[in-house]
Amino acid sequence: GGDFGAAVRRCVGVAKCRTATAAGPAVMCPSFRATGEEEHSTRGRARLLHEMLAGEVVTDGWRSTEVRDALDLCLSCKGCRSDCPVGVDMATYKAEFLHHHYAGRRRPAAHHSMGRLPRWLRWAARTRTAPVVNALTAVGPLAALGKRLGGIAPERAIPRLATRTFTGWWRRRKPAGGTGDLVVLWPDTFTEHLSPAVGRAAVRVLEAAGLRVALPPTLLPRGGTIGDGATGGGGTRAVTALLAARRARVCCGLTYISTGQLDRARTVLRRTLDLMEPVLRAGVPVVVLEPSCAAALRTDLPELLSDDPRAARLSSAVLTFAEVLERHAPHWSPPAVGRPVAGQTHCHQHAVLGDAPDRRLRDAAGLTGDLSGGCCGLAGNFGFEKGHFEVSRACAEEQLLPSVRQAPEGAVILADGFSCRTQLEQLAGVRGRHLAEVLAEALGEGGAAK
Ligand code: SF4
Ligand code: SF4
Repeated sequence: GGDFGAAVRRCVGVAKCRTATAAGPAVMCPSFRATGEEEHSTRGRARLLHEMLAGEVVTDGWRSTEVRDALDLCLSCKGCRSDCPVGVDMATYKAEFLHHHYAGRRRPAAHHSMGRLPRWLRWAARTRTAPVVNALTAVGPLAALGKRLGGIAPERAIPRLATRTFTGWWRRRKPAGGTGDLVVLWPDTFTEHLSPAVGRAAVRVLEAAGLRVALPPTLLPRGGTIGDGATGGGGTRAVTALLAARRARVCCGLTYISTGQLDRARTVLRRTLDLMEPVLRAGVPVVVLEPSCAAALRTDLPELLSDDPRAARLSSAVLTFAEVLERHAPHWSPPAVGRPVAGQTHCHQHAVLGDAPDRRLRDAAGLTGDLSGGCCGLAGNFGFEKGHFEVSRACAEEQLLPSVRQAPEGAVILADGFSCRTQLEQLAGVRGRHLAEVLAEALGEGGAAK
């Protein structure tokens, strides 16, 4: 459409995206640095998309396999969104392209396996089959078969599922007191099913800072306020809606967006807004621990549902872990950890969320040194997809892995993103931790990390 055309024409060709080494915290463009090829730079992709819309050189429009192949190695790291002088946002264009390219056609297996990850993981939790899945994926030939069917790179190990989800733990804990501000903690797919220790640690720290923690609502009213969010559903209608309510979960839609399943993403996001209505009405901040989910809610949500006023409200309610502590517990001092750090600033944190509050929180906890810029190379589904392993590893070797190898004795390896932690574990055998885990451990007592 017109907006897409204007967006891809933004590129002015100054080639900042073609720098051979990433400077400081910059991220753009890891796929160019890994391949050295114009086709795999932000500029190369923007030009090709422009040609596609012009229709003279690239004549098969959205169906173009040439454009698809050029976008294939884009990690959707969003680095260009912040580092390109004119804000070329290739991750968004890639999602839009994939949406059109596969409309009414068979999608690659990875779009089903990883694009629908929240759905598979919820199914495993509901049927309590996580231990069975873990046992099966530990058997070499079965794992190989599963990876082949799911379009997953054979070099990759399948991450283990948590046998107790974060919300499962939450439901069984004794409610904590507290008189501070109320915050809603977002149980993103990664925290919920793959890294529940991060969620438990965050609860420990937020409550130690005096905040009252709640989880998002899970009751979805039927026929009540569901819709465009512009109309309310009071009185009898609200009661009827409550009686017909069903259980549902919030989701930022990230995996659907990155695989270009935009209709599905919009459905998931609208349901999320329906669920979050009471939170939005009360003006409660929403803490999101996984940077890519926070970034999706901040930027993709209002772009995808621009017709729904609730989207902008949820987007602006989203805070990172460090932001919520800084704004809602300004007088709290974190425990003194007093150690050097190495690790990864998540690329979406760099591009969308900013990391200044994180730096201040680390300083206050005596965590010294800088984290790596660039991209860890895993970038959600990217590094797991068949054919991406070498580029994924090359990206990790650029900054993250050398920084961890050279980290001083006793350094804490920080990585707030599940992807970055997975990359560290799979390529370096190193356990990276979310800042919440490091602070919870230093607080001791309370069993957050157990
Ligand atoms: S994508 Fe951005 S940085 Fe790269 S050439 Fe175009 S304007 Fe310059
Ligand atoms: S999203 Fe990342 S990999 Fe893709 S073009 Fe932008 S900087 Fe390069």
